[in-house]
Amino acid sequence: MPRFICRQCGARFPESATPPEACPICRDERQYVRWGGQDWLTPDELGAAHAIDCTEDHGVLGLRIKPAFAIGQRMLLVEADEGNLLWDCIGLVTPEAVAAIKARGPLIGMAISHPHYYTALADWAQALEIPVHLHADDAQWVTEPHPAIKFWNGEALKLGRSLTLLRCGGHFAGATVLHHAKGEGALYCGDVLQVAPDRRYVSVLYSYPNMIPVNAATIRRIAAILDPYPFSRVYGAFEGRVMDGDAKAGVARSFERYLAAIA
Ligand SMILES: [Zn+2]
Ligand SMILES: [Zn+2]
Repeated sequence: MPRFICRQCGARFPESATPPEACPICRDERQYVRWGGQDWLTPDELGAAHAIDCTEDHGVLGLRIKPAFAIGQRMLLVEADEGNLLWDCIGLVTPEAVAAIKARGPLIGMAISHPHYYTALADWAQALEIPVHLHADDAQWVTEPHPAIKFWNGEALKLGRSLTLLRCGGHFAGATVLHHAKGEGALYCGDVLQVAPDRRYVSVLYSYPNMIPVNAATIRRIAAILDPYPFSRVYGAFEGRVMDGDAKAGVARSFERYLAAIA
């Protein structure tokens, strides 16, 4: 039996004779159903028409599907002393990409910021034999369950000496960022905080495609969560979206601007 992938958002579904009735991720107000109507493809069809581009960006290996597919996010390989962590996920697995990741050293797992990037986590977990850490508050959005998924609860989870997951909320109840305490520190945000095109600011929306903001209390809560953690870079979900240098001040500036805009 085939497995189906939502062509609009990249969500994956278990084997079934016919496609699911709808994609819950796209039906949610944080995404949108394809203008021409719900459309599906299989992993084989996706693999036949796409490859994975592996590019170093500000010292971190980024992997993304080319030509661009669905939301277009990248998966980043965060290289830590205690072992490497895959941050976020993409909808396609290739032997070349698996080899490129393995060549960088042993992995301790994968963590994903929020449900829009769950995509092919099951296939990646299987190919690399790693656990996948998801926040339990977003468990309802898992479209393809897998035994490698480890749900975590609460506000923070240490994955090693230098790697900490922080639940920020906002975009999703369990929306998570990753702090890496190496050098001046780095924050990996997916689009829980979205790095703006000018790369001097971030923003936080409940829905990016439908432009629904979060409220002031959410911004203040995220600021308080990040406050104890030093970082000079913020790595966003998309190619080149990195706030480089004194990013902690950049995030503070961004939150001030945001609060002034919605006051
Ligand atoms: Zn979808
Ligand atoms: Zn998202």
